[in-house]
Amino acid sequence: QISEAEVALFSVSSYACQRRTTLDNHNSNLTDALSLLAENAELNNEDGRGVAFRRAAALMKALPTQVISMSQLRGLPCLGEHSLRVIKDVLENGVSSEVESTKQSKRYKALKILTGIFGVGAKTADRWIREGIYNLEQLRHSGQTLNRAQKSGLEHYDDLNEPVTKAEADAIGEIVQKAVDSVLTGSQVALTGGFRRGKLTGHDVDFLITHPEEGKEVGLMPKVVAWLESRGFLLYQKTTRNSYLESKDGPARPASNMDRFERCFSIFKLTKGKEQESTQPEEQNDLKTKDVLRPHMQVDTDQQLCELSKNYQMEAASHKIWRAVRVDLVVSPISQFAFAVLGWTGSKLFERELRRWAGHEKNMSLSSHALFDNTQNKYLRATSEEEIFAYLGLEYIPPSERNA
Ligand code: ATP
Ligand code: MN
Ligand code: MN
Repeated sequence: QISEAEVALFSVSSYACQRRTTLDNHNSNLTDALSLLAENAELNNEDGRGVAFRRAAALMKALPTQVISMSQLRGLPCLGEHSLRVIKDVLENGVSSEVESTKQSKRYKALKILTGIFGVGAKTADRWIREGIYNLEQLRHSGQTLNRAQKSGLEHYDDLNEPVTKAEADAIGEIVQKAVDSVLTGSQVALTGGFRRGKLTGHDVDFLITHPEEGKEVGLMPKVVAWLESRGFLLYQKTTRNSYLESKDGPARPASNMDRFERCFSIFKLTKGKEQESTQPEEQNDLKTKDVLRPHMQVDTDQQLCELSKNYQMEAASHKIWRAVRVDLVVSPISQFAFAVLGWTGSKLFERELRRWAGHEKNMSLSSHALFDNTQNKYLRATSEEEIFAYLGLEYIPPSERNA
């Protein structure tokens, strides 16, 4: 039993954008539980609950040491009754019963599998589940009409659910830079998203493209995409043009957190590096079941057979000389570049909290395009992230500490 005096109390700011959240997390047992419940809420279109669990998880991520007792959490913001119950369960029993039952539920499993398809969101997955579709096999045989994105997503399912490494992100970055240089000299490419925050892997790779001369970037995306496409780098792409100028509601009040830059959601065909490329002799590339089915192995049960078949597929996949990778490309005019970089660096919760801080504490509206001061009734120009934090009255938080 720990006495009151021995318990370390934490003092933590209530907005995630006031905190420094690095990648080293001392409470992953707790944040994993809360994140899973957040994800489950989001998959069920319960956005309010989702945000509440995300905020609680982010708070726990920001704590400097491991929590061992509930009494340490006294006075901390962002922890609602439900989150506290989950934390208590994990601290006392090692696991949260709610998390365990969620993980095992048929619905959660199906939602995870189906939304794991690029182009499938919670709503589509829910509709399919109501029609009795719980997995890819059932989906393939269901006769459901899939859109172009979903077809691509299903085709490259395994690749797209395999984390992208930093090395792969850099390799794609070189290709994008080459494409951009070829179509408009002087253009700049910035790696954003999780990799800019120092993450070692990601679900995709995010790039922001600009040109130092305002206006030169107009029409850049279709040219970049055409360059990539003609060289066989794209398995899928959907380009959306810039809708910022023509919109009536003004830049500071986007309908959602979606921005209106010219963008391209794509799937790259990335040739594997030399070190990954078949280092084995030729004849072993022609994989036979016998290579996986070792003679001493007994195949008695369905489960063993399933395991073997999985191994076989994995071995076969490892002999493929390319893989599919999700890539987001965004083009921003230089005048909005600082806002775009800030908006596309994330994390998602950090961004949400920045906007909430701006609105609730500063009477300002922040988007990936601009910062509007509602009190002075004017836009605040910025050429760096540091300036934006300063306008917002926040201490500057570097990307590596935005992992809320
Ligand atoms: P991961 O490693 O999973 O890719 P990530 O932090 O890079 O993590 P993304 O989903 O790629 O996550 O998003 C990166 C950033 O881009 C986030 O800050 C997010 O807010 C922003 N973003 C993503 N999609 C959009 C969009 N459609 N409109 C505006 N901003 C977006
Ligand atoms: Mn990303
Ligand atoms: Mn992305």
